[in-house]
Amino acid sequence: MEKILIIDDSRLHVIQLKTILEDDYAVTIAYTAEEGLHLVKEENFSLILLDVIMPEMDGFTLLKKLQEEIITRNIPVILITSLSSVEDEQHGLTLGAVDYITKPFHPLIVKARVNTHIKLYNYRRQVEYQSRIDQLTGVANRRQHDYYSEIKWNEAARLQVPFSICMFDIDHFKMFNDTFGHPAGDKVITAVAKTASSLLQRSTDFFARYGGEEFVAFMLGDDPEAAFNHLVKIRKAIEDLHIKHSENVSEWVTVSIGGITIIPEAGKSYEFYLKIADSMLYDAKNSGRNRVVWTDRGNRILQEE
Ligand code: GH3
Ligand code: MG
Ligand code: MG
Repeated sequence: MEKILIIDDSRLHVIQLKTILEDDYAVTIAYTAEEGLHLVKEENFSLILLDVIMPEMDGFTLLKKLQEEIITRNIPVILITSLSSVEDEQHGLTLGAVDYITKPFHPLIVKARVNTHIKLYNYRRQVEYQSRIDQLTGVANRRQHDYYSEIKWNEAARLQVPFSICMFDIDHFKMFNDTFGHPAGDKVITAVAKTASSLLQRSTDFFARYGGEEFVAFMLGDDPEAAFNHLVKIRKAIEDLHIKHSENVSEWVTVSIGGITIIPEAGKSYEFYLKIADSMLYDAKNSGRNRVVWTDRGNRILQEE
């Protein structure tokens, strides 16, 4: 059942709304804006019905707060209020409410509007999910990487935990395509993505297809040696898939990996370090491919022979 949160200080209205909705939805009640704000961060609601006039924090103020937070920004909010002036309605909608219902409300109208907004919300989530996933491999795409790396980078900067970033690139892949054809190449990209992502399954790991035959990963909490060793394991797992490569270049399909582990410093961006990881990848390519090269600030410190 989809979850709905009602935030309203009037017990009578709460009972009315709950009665209208409880057959179809799991309804949670908050009698103050503060309580609502707390609940909304604890559980995943598909919709919020929000009263405007409440003692202490009012609905407009709460709506503003919800819009400011990344995790609550997208939850649809319907304002329910006895305010019926055009200005109030306009104010609520410009603050980001998806709809506005005035008291006294008709049960069938409330139900219909709630159903519509929940449908729209689910549709949007599905579209958003698809827009963050790479079609070919099913792993995250670059867009999701750009979005998620910023969140995680800020988190690591705040907590001052080590952050590892690495870039992967399939070796001599043009030759593979030229020898076996593009559809076979697509299968290799998928196999590499599946193998790498299956070894990056901690909640603090992230893996994405960056484009073409390139991938990017980041991990939180490992020191440089641990991160390097883990990526060596992934590199070997890909080699051990024993996907036959073109005889001109090597026996099996392999990847080169460049990475960096740092504790985020103020004023330095994720992109700055991503570029260093990319230069380590370049190093790995130049020193013979099928290897991992790692740094902790720019000079290579760990590498496979
Ligand atoms: P290197 O070892 O230096 O990385 O050599 P490379 O041949 O892999 O490098 P290059 O960047 O020149 O070629 C990448 C090739 O990857 C070119 C392109 O044909 C192939 N490629 C990129 N995206 C896709 C894709 O989606 N599917 C397939 N099958 N091939 C792709
Ligand atoms: Mg490439
Ligand atoms: Mg390549």
